[in-house]
Amino acid sequence: MHSPARKRIRVLDAGAVTFGEPLKEHCSWRIGGPADIFVQPSGEGQIVNVLRFVGEEGLPLVVIGRGTNLLFADEGFRGVVLKLGKRFSDFSVDGASVRAQGGLWVPRLVKNLADEGLSGLEHAAGIPGSFGGLVAMNGGSLRHSVGERIVDVRAVSFAGELRTFRRDECAFSYRRSLFQLGAGDPGNRWIVLEAALELVPADRNDIRREVLRILAERRGKFPLDLPNCGSVFTNDPAVYELAGPPGKIVEDTGLKGLRVGGAEVSHRHANFIVNLGGATASDVLALVGEIRKRVHDRIGAWLECEVRYVGAEGTLVPASEVSGTPIRREK
Ligand SMILES: Cc1cc2nc3c(=O)[nH]c(=O)nc-3n(C[C@H](O)[C@H](O)[C@H](O)COP(=O)(O)OP(=O)(O)OC[C@H]3O[C@@H](n4cnc5c(N)ncnc54)[C@H](O)[C@@H]3O)c2cc1C
Repeated sequence: MHSPARKRIRVLDAGAVTFGEPLKEHCSWRIGGPADIFVQPSGEGQIVNVLRFVGEEGLPLVVIGRGTNLLFADEGFRGVVLKLGKRFSDFSVDGASVRAQGGLWVPRLVKNLADEGLSGLEHAAGIPGSFGGLVAMNGGSLRHSVGERIVDVRAVSFAGELRTFRRDECAFSYRRSLFQLGAGDPGNRWIVLEAALELVPADRNDIRREVLRILAERRGKFPLDLPNCGSVFTNDPAVYELAGPPGKIVEDTGLKGLRVGGAEVSHRHANFIVNLGGATASDVLALVGEIRKRVHDRIGAWLECEVRYVGAEGTLVPASEVSGTPIRREK
């Protein structure tokens, strides 16, 4: 990174800026090298300033929330990492409609909704990401996704255009949306600023009981005591039909406990890879590649990753695509 760019962003109204920020501090796997520029804007104006700076300097840009679905490269990132920070967390209610900003922590959102007596997002209890990340990933659980409740999403393109998308324009499908496209024209890449949800009024205590039930179930099932990134592989319907959910497939292939360096297939839930301490991105990618190969040898299908890999030069792709194994699925 040449120093004029550093000097420029230092004096820009961009929010909190750091140089050489360790990305492992910003993801739940605790993996990743330093980012040249790491910026946490606290308002839309600051985001637009950063986007203009990135465009003028021609730097790679990646937008992150809580990094709970990301694997950062060991080399870090040779551009700008933009994190929607805690200050970007407004929440407002109007009857059964809610607006929330992209930086809001999902557990906080779920609690706010329970306090307001609004039902419909209990399934997101225990998802440790930001609301923007949840919308981008169309995340959820128990066969639900946040997209079901979305009314509209306000976003800004990497080129600086502000736009509101109605739900039918968001291209929501299983763990996918318009907002997670990692490459291409800056005018087609979007940052989720805020979104509106339509919920259903319900008894506060019923909602709280359901949230607590889901949290207890997750605690019993998932290896939450070691750094991880949630489910590594997606639940593809065609593969499900063939052999069941990805955790079962990996377990039935006998891979629980398989280890590369500090990365291990969890003994508790085989769709989780845990960091035993000191795991690198290369360890995780090698392990992902090995799992995919052995699963393919057994069932003839390739598992695809839900987890996204952030390359040092700006690639943002499902981790399976850089695991050294084929990316095409066979049926
Ligand atoms: C213990 C654990 C359990 C989990 N359980 C679940 C689960 O049950 N269901 C589920 O769906 N997921 C689950 N996850 C994965 C993860 O929490 C979700 O995908 C979450 O929605 C990601 O949010 P994030 O803020 O961490 O996004 P990040 O990981 O920071 O980013 C993920 C993707 O979203 C993009 N993105 C982030 N913020 C924005 C924004 N504001 N605008 C545009 N794009 C953005 C990023 O560029 C990236 O492509 C789990 C993870 C962990 C660690």
